[in-house]
Amino acid sequence: MTELAQPVTMDKIVSLCRRRGFVFPSSEIYGGLGSTYDYGHYGVLMKNNIRSLWFQAMVQERDDIVALDSAVILNPRVWEASGHVAEFTDPLVDCRTCKLRFRADKLEDAQCGRKPSKHPGEFKECDLTEARQFNLMFETHVGALKDESSLAYLRPETAQGIFINFKNVLQIARRKPPFGIAQVGKSFRNEITPGNFLFRVREFELMEMEFFVPPGEAEQWYGYWIDQRFGWYLKYGVREGNLRKREHTAEERSHYSSGTTDIEFLYPIGWSELEGVANRGDYDLTQHTRHSGTKLEYVGEGGERYTPYVIEPAVSIERIFVALLVDAYHEEVVAERERTVLRLHPAVAPVKAAILPLISKNDEMVNRARALHEDLRQGQIVEYDDGGAIGRRYRRQDEIGTPFAFTVDEQTLEDDTVTVRDRDSLAQERLPIGGVRAWLDDALERPWQAPKI
Ligand code: ATP
Repeated sequence: MTELAQPVTMDKIVSLCRRRGFVFPSSEIYGGLGSTYDYGHYGVLMKNNIRSLWFQAMVQERDDIVALDSAVILNPRVWEASGHVAEFTDPLVDCRTCKLRFRADKLEDAQCGRKPSKHPGEFKECDLTEARQFNLMFETHVGALKDESSLAYLRPETAQGIFINFKNVLQIARRKPPFGIAQVGKSFRNEITPGNFLFRVREFELMEMEFFVPPGEAEQWYGYWIDQRFGWYLKYGVREGNLRKREHTAEERSHYSSGTTDIEFLYPIGWSELEGVANRGDYDLTQHTRHSGTKLEYVGEGGERYTPYVIEPAVSIERIFVALLVDAYHEEVVAERERTVLRLHPAVAPVKAAILPLISKNDEMVNRARALHEDLRQGQIVEYDDGGAIGRRYRRQDEIGTPFAFTVDEQTLEDDTVTVRDRDSLAQERLPIGGVRAWLDDALERPWQAPKI
């Protein structure tokens, strides 16, 4: 097996996603809607896996974090209190010549509308306006009237839904700091320059956890959550060389933050933010206490009271999705044939195993394979495939990252064994057909490391 030393480009990822039905450009039959995507079957399965592995680490395996699912459209006063109405802005510049818009703080990443490729401002004809602040929140109206009184926003983050429920959770879930509230949900930002596939989109699924701690413990928990989240990516097979931590400078930090560290991934566009871990201090609870008149604080049994500090790890499923695909994508030559393979961690892979009759016209093989499929699907997402030559079916499964394939062949009909093929090593072994389900469950539990190639 020889790895082809070509760089993984975003184009290759986009093309594989489309070819294999992970992700489609949205509204395509109407000409699309810039940087908006729909997820196909494998994309949905992979997103479900990312979401549930995050939930497993953040809620299921812990005693100190509970779940929440708050509304997308909240009382607009929430966003005044949080500072989003005044401060959730990006600086925007227009070019009077080419009529394009750019983020003033990202001009070095932007392309001028003219050719050859240059950054905005670099042609002598470029005529950029002064930067002005553009609010990223999508506006909507609640109810039949469309005026100032009905103005509301689609949430740009899920965190505020957590803060406004702080008192409910404290009282009803009987928690005391340190404890956390985790939430996953669609969030919306009217980005000025979306792009780079799913990396920057206007509608995405955020996974956020607000961890409430005594103020004196904030620094320690901040460090703890940076390490926990970094370790989570390693656990799911992301290569360490593709990950790094980067602390924000004071100028970069958001209005609420007293410390932020990004976990960055080496995307095809260069090192970029995958996940952010922020120390939000007592900013949010204090703001909501002030604006709502409801005291959001912790009162201990001995009567001591304080406003907890908040440590927040926040990441979108989309950025993880792209990072995992980039990390897993390989082109290699096997027996003089090229193959593209997604070496995804089995827990992330959309389909865990394929069940293939060697000869699709052989009824006995088909029946045995279908029965095996029926059995395995009770426990795992698996796929039956009898379409086309076996080599083509293997390659299709390699491209969607299926870690195992079970093939029913002539020998199966004689001795009740099947072949199992390993996606990464291409090793094949025979197993008794009755033991396949237990074998698969066991194989999926085994620790997995990206093969060093
Ligand atoms: P950026 O500087 O890239 O605009 P940000 O610092 O505004 O991002 P945060 O507010 O920290 O982003 O958002 C938390 C997380 O949400 C990010 O780490 C990223 O995983 C994700 N995210 C933010 N904006 C987008 C987007 N437009 N598309 C996809 N994911 C996003």
